[in-house]
Amino acid sequence: FRFSRRPDIGDKIRVSFEFFPPKSDEMEARLWDTVTRLQPLKPKFVSVTYGAGGSTRERTARTVKRILKETALTPAAHMTCVNAARHEVDEVIQEFADMGVTRFVALRGDPAEGVGAAYRPHPDGYANGAELVGALKGVGDFDISVSAYPEKHPESPDFATDIDMLKRKVDNGATRAITQFFFDNDLYERYVERARRAGIYIPIVPGILPVHNFTQVANFSSRCGALVPAWLAERFDGLQTDPQTHALVASAVAAEQVLDLVERGVGDFHFYTMNRADLVFAVCHMIGIRSHEAEAAGSAAA
Ligand code: FAD
Repeated sequence: FRFSRRPDIGDKIRVSFEFFPPKSDEMEARLWDTVTRLQPLKPKFVSVTYGAGGSTRERTARTVKRILKETALTPAAHMTCVNAARHEVDEVIQEFADMGVTRFVALRGDPAEGVGAAYRPHPDGYANGAELVGALKGVGDFDISVSAYPEKHPESPDFATDIDMLKRKVDNGATRAITQFFFDNDLYERYVERARRAGIYIPIVPGILPVHNFTQVANFSSRCGALVPAWLAERFDGLQTDPQTHALVASAVAAEQVLDLVERGVGDFHFYTMNRADLVFAVCHMIGIRSHEAEAAGSAAA
């Protein structure tokens, strides 16, 4: 008996979607098409990232504000503490709180030079994600998500140090962890076991990255310490010039990963949408998440 084939599976699964703030009018239009398409799936929240080095403060705020104003969605604002003094970070927290934001994704952030560059905390700043969680909790009783790394963060010398950082975030008030993307579900399961053994009981929600462009994902993975298994490379082999087949394979790969996690008892998923709806929509459909339009069309046809 497969849990993922139960007819009521969609009622047992919750999803959230991640967007990045657009840089141009064209990208803004694409984001908005994506938001419009995914909104009827009723995600628990949608999150908006903060640029590397803290570079998109205004754009993140603008996108969050538009979501609050024009949709029924609940936004979560990503925040980082890299390159900023405490008073500057506190100002941003207050700005979001004044807007009516109640959910945050609290991160240390990467240096402006990008992933892999040496991290130096701001001399008057919050040193890491855990300290930022503490700062947020000092302002309000927010719902705070933090990062988790099934393959450990590249800067963590070992899993014990990595899990210890997650524990500090939980002790400071984090509500849930969202993982870096991964493709090997065993790694995720092992990480969750490690965290539970360390006394961490908050949900550790898998971050799912549908592979829109395998070459880009492979490059990014090597910088952020996520393993691209040989079988995955094999599946996309030769498809760089065949976008249609690439998309079909990507949707099958993501569905396979998510359905396997459902079988392992996972009920919450966070999707890195890359501001594109199609793959995420297809995978959500596979796990029984339906839009209201689809329900209405179905009953009209019956
Ligand atoms: P932390 O959890 O503070 O630290 C990461 C690791 O470094 C820890 O596990 C710890 O082992 C090690 N470490 C840190 N400080 C110490 C120390 N003093 N001593 C020993 N070890 C230490 N980046 C953005 O710029 N904007 C975003 O919007 C964004 N969103 C993200 C969302 C998710 C779900 C995830 C998983 C990542 C996101 N990132 C984002 C990337 C993130 O900023 C980077 O991975 C960054 O390198 C680490 O940030 P963090 O909050 O995970 O760091």
